[in-house]
Amino acid sequence: MLLRHTEADAPERKALTINPAKTCQPIGAMYAALGVHGCLPHSHGSQGCCSYHRSQLTRHYKEPVLAATSSFTEGSSVFGGQSNLLQAISNIFSIYDADVIAVHTTCLSETIGDDINQIVRKAKEDGLIPEGKYIFHANTPSYQGSQVTGFASMCKSMMDSFAEPADKPGDHIAIVPGWVEPADMREIRRIVEAFGVEVTLAPDTSGVLDTGLTGTSQYFPDGGTTIDELKACGSARTVISLGPSASGPAGRALESRCKVPCEVLELPIGLQGTDRFIQSLSVITGKPIPEQLKWERSRLVDLMSDMGQYFYGKSAALWGDPDQIVALSEFLCDLSMFPKYAVTGTPGKGFMKRMEKACENASGPCRYEEGQRADMHKMHSWIKADKPDVLIGGTHGKYIARDEDIPLVRHGFPILDRIGHQYFNTVGYTGGMRLAEQILNCFLDRQDRDAPEERFELVM
Ligand code: SF4
Repeated sequence: MLLRHTEADAPERKALTINPAKTCQPIGAMYAALGVHGCLPHSHGSQGCCSYHRSQLTRHYKEPVLAATSSFTEGSSVFGGQSNLLQAISNIFSIYDADVIAVHTTCLSETIGDDINQIVRKAKEDGLIPEGKYIFHANTPSYQGSQVTGFASMCKSMMDSFAEPADKPGDHIAIVPGWVEPADMREIRRIVEAFGVEVTLAPDTSGVLDTGLTGTSQYFPDGGTTIDELKACGSARTVISLGPSASGPAGRALESRCKVPCEVLELPIGLQGTDRFIQSLSVITGKPIPEQLKWERSRLVDLMSDMGQYFYGKSAALWGDPDQIVALSEFLCDLSMFPKYAVTGTPGKGFMKRMEKACENASGPCRYEEGQRADMHKMHSWIKADKPDVLIGGTHGKYIARDEDIPLVRHGFPILDRIGHQYFNTVGYTGGMRLAEQILNCFLDRQDRDAPEERFELVM
């Protein structure tokens, strides 16, 4: 009984969050920055913040995550961190030879009121930024937003800082892929390239946070979106933002800055989500849907219909990133399941409406909330009152899973105690098969475990 104090009828709270279904803004900003080639994320604040953000990303991706910090002392906390950041910029370019620095702020530097624009201007005036090197930044105080809004702000800053308007649009498509795994980014690229068009993913963490063991160590792996590619986003024929919360602001910034038409879609998770993405690509490119993708769709539909009896009427509790929750909820409904409970600590009024739409064909009642009080404690109290069949979310849900004896499918961020999420995609039709398999195996394992001896079957 790890969470023994949670009660089924937990009182309403107005000013207390218990076990939030979110984390710090800078973690998202750091993840986005790692998707730019040759980029060193820089945390403008104290060492502790940077250590925490790096360690969360390192534990999730099982790869070394490099980031620099302004290492605030008592002095910088009182007088501001300008001199620390100027020194850091000089060191990063001269010692680590980064192509670009992505600065994000923290609670401390935001509270002091450090003006990063002004500090970067001073760095330029002082000759600290060598020719062909760049700095961009995002404001990410963690007393508001979440890792998702931090990711969104850094992606928007990429477009604001680098995308160059063009007189004539090119043929290529720009995609802001949302906070998904490196394997998902790889899969999104593969799907777009199946239409025979060039694509720029901004950012792109494939080849950065899912690299192999080659015997050589590189500060900056070969993957990531190059600065030239970010500049060329301004001449894309269209930008598709996957996930309104994480990618919407970047796509809309590109549209308003460079007049690139922007389409905002839910993440291409599951059948309908992937259908919409592929249909959009077909309309944008004017090309029919490739046979390969049709074949992959047919395999997912085959799995769903073969195994429908095991999915039917089953319920899930979800938590984490709103883009993931909305897309997963729709997929659960496609599988004849339903999201009984969902909570996200990421604020945003659109979440409730998006969930309403995603759950319109749900086979059971769905209860969902967003914001500061939509935390793991609240979801646990709902679960205590009436259990779902499966939990879907990050590692923090393992305490509820153990206490309530409910299987847990690890999905989203952070996953600190398993591997695989960074290597195997969950977007696209192939990703839908993986997700369906993970959920299905939970139900079948449970059936095997709980069956009395006379009902224990070899074939299920
Ligand atoms: S909440 Fe603020 S102070 Fe705490 S680790 Fe995050 S950025 Fe740093």
